[in-house]
Amino acid sequence: MTRIAVVGAGAAGLGAAYALRDIDAEVTVFERREAVGGRAATHRRDDCTYDVGANYCKDDDERVRDLFAGELADGLVDTEGPVWTFDADGDISEGRGDDARKLTYGDGLATLGERLRETSDATVRTETEVTGLARDADEWRVEFESADDPLAAGDIRADALVLTPPAPATAYLLDRADWDGTDDSLRADLVEAAADVSYRTLLSVALHYPQRTDLPYYALVNSDKNHELGWVSREECKPGHVPEGESLLVVQPSPEWSRHRYDDADDEIAVQAADLTAELLGDPDRYQFDWADVVRWRDALPDSGADADVLDRGTDADLFFAGDWVAGEGRVHAALRSGLETGERIAERY
Ligand SMILES: Cc1cc2nc3c(=O)[nH]c(=O)nc-3n(C[C@H](O)[C@H](O)[C@H](O)COP(=O)(O)OP(=O)(O)OC[C@H]3O[C@@H](n4cnc5c(N)ncnc54)[C@H](O)[C@@H]3O)c2cc1C
Repeated sequence: MTRIAVVGAGAAGLGAAYALRDIDAEVTVFERREAVGGRAATHRRDDCTYDVGANYCKDDDERVRDLFAGELADGLVDTEGPVWTFDADGDISEGRGDDARKLTYGDGLATLGERLRETSDATVRTETEVTGLARDADEWRVEFESADDPLAAGDIRADALVLTPPAPATAYLLDRADWDGTDDSLRADLVEAAADVSYRTLLSVALHYPQRTDLPYYALVNSDKNHELGWVSREECKPGHVPEGESLLVVQPSPEWSRHRYDDADDEIAVQAADLTAELLGDPDRYQFDWADVVRWRDALPDSGADADVLDRGTDADLFFAGDWVAGEGRVHAALRSGLETGERIAERY
């Protein structure tokens, strides 16, 4: 039976596993975190559910739409309300001409990863980080360490390997791979293609308030990229996320602000983000949140896509790639589609 190893259980890695479920293969997905879903991540506190990575997934892609209409449909909710814009001066304007559905689940966008995991036949090993790769003859050796069990380090052999971590992490893994001989220039080209993709850093700050203000929009996005905030959204617009009478804002400062404050303490980041938000919304109540949750995303959104022709050459060494940086778009649906396409390519070949 063909053995396929997938590194990363985000939308791309699980999309690949999903596409491989109908072939006679043993698929193992490695995920270093406790939860699957990657940057489609959800936190829960008290009675609140809130998406701390991707805010929602669009379905303006045919393949993703089909999945959302079928196996992934259960529990899916559409976010209520439009996205408005604001500029560098904090002036808010109506609409940005985007009426696509903004989908999440009643229990959060991380459910997307859970559903893909359930519907694939793959073995998903969470809290298991891939720490080394080696090419031995015609197979890959994948070395891993387990966060929950220090004694559970080991390796597996695979006929094909799929790498889905963000481009910098993929470049790092490949650069250190024990992979010499005739393939060496291929390895260097692949490392360069991945390393060429830079990512923006983002902080995601959830701010909970014990009261709610009715507003005519779901979210505000900074249109000129010159404000210290990039995004403010209201989780209460997602059915099932926030109890009546409460409010939970997800605030994403700009990439510059996020990079600058990345190592600051959580409570400092939360207070500053809340102050900027209160000023933007012109709402003094927003200075006083009653709890906050700060999430750091070092590699949040790719600035570009990798050279597809170079990545395709990995096929000669049974090496495949998927992810937002492969799709060239920092979006959940693009990552998922990339994973599905990669899985299908592998299914055809093995
Ligand atoms: C703050 C923020 C807001 C966003 N907003 C939106 C939005 O509103 N809409 C939208 O569509 N998209 C949004 N995005 C982008 C979207 O989340 C990503 O483009 C998409 O989730 C990427 O999926 P992926 O599978 O390519 O990568 P990831 O989700 O990053 O998955 C890669 C996985 O690999 C794992 N991994 C890495 N290295 C290893 C290793 N060595 N061993 C094992 N596992 C490893 C990681 O833990 C991770 O789970 C946002 C992202 C962020 C951070």
